[in-house]
Amino acid sequence: MPFDEIGDGVYRRRYEALDQNIGIVLGSAGVLVIDTRSVPSHGEEIAGDLAGLTPLPVRWVINTHWHWDHVLGNSVFSEAEIWGHRRCLEVMQSDPEGIKAAARSWLPDLTTELEQTVVVPPSTIFDTNVAMDLGDRVVRLLYRGKGHTDADITVRVGDVVFAGDLLEEGAPPVFGDGYPLQWPDTITAHLANPPRLTVPGHGDIMDGDAVNGQIEELRDVARRCAAATSAGELDLVGAPYPDEVMLSAMDRSLLERGL
Ligand SMILES: [Zn+2]
Repeated sequence: MPFDEIGDGVYRRRYEALDQNIGIVLGSAGVLVIDTRSVPSHGEEIAGDLAGLTPLPVRWVINTHWHWDHVLGNSVFSEAEIWGHRRCLEVMQSDPEGIKAAARSWLPDLTTELEQTVVVPPSTIFDTNVAMDLGDRVVRLLYRGKGHTDADITVRVGDVVFAGDLLEEGAPPVFGDGYPLQWPDTITAHLANPPRLTVPGHGDIMDGDAVNGQIEELRDVARRCAAATSAGELDLVGAPYPDEVMLSAMDRSLLERGL
């Protein structure tokens, strides 16, 4: 698939594996890459594709969160500054084998490569918000609390937002490491200034209606989880997502409530 130019010098490339979106921003001083995919060979594929787009070097990488499919290509870009939330660094430093094990369970064909993969955590971290200077433009990173994980950030470039897995198109959101009770308010805070386009971690680009629809679904999940009993009884009738997704959200909500 080609690069889609979705803003002035702002691109997304949609990769077939996991239907994943990678963001690219061209600055006068170099290239910014948002997320690096699941293994170093996937990162190499990004680097190779970029060679057809620009001669500029990759100076910056952003990890939207610590999930394996967003960070395990980092080693390819070790010359670049890698930016992420403080918690992204902490998780990648404290549990690199856990991150690789999660990848192996999804990608058994890539076990050999994953065994040799070096987990490279962010080198530049922040807590709530930070502006990156790409030479002739500024990119803003935000953290607004827990959602899909405890480390999700969004990346705003003009009127485009890269939302990582706080939003997901074409498949239900993933709650396995999530905070379903806090998630709706977190994503709402990120998008308080509504962008023209939002790029989810996976799937098609979303307009305002698509984003608002997903936030309503997340609020429905949160309401149902909040009403679930400590025994784990959850109302599944008319729920926005399949039962197994709802039950995963409920399990996480019980942890969130300390039950
Ligand atoms: Zn994720």
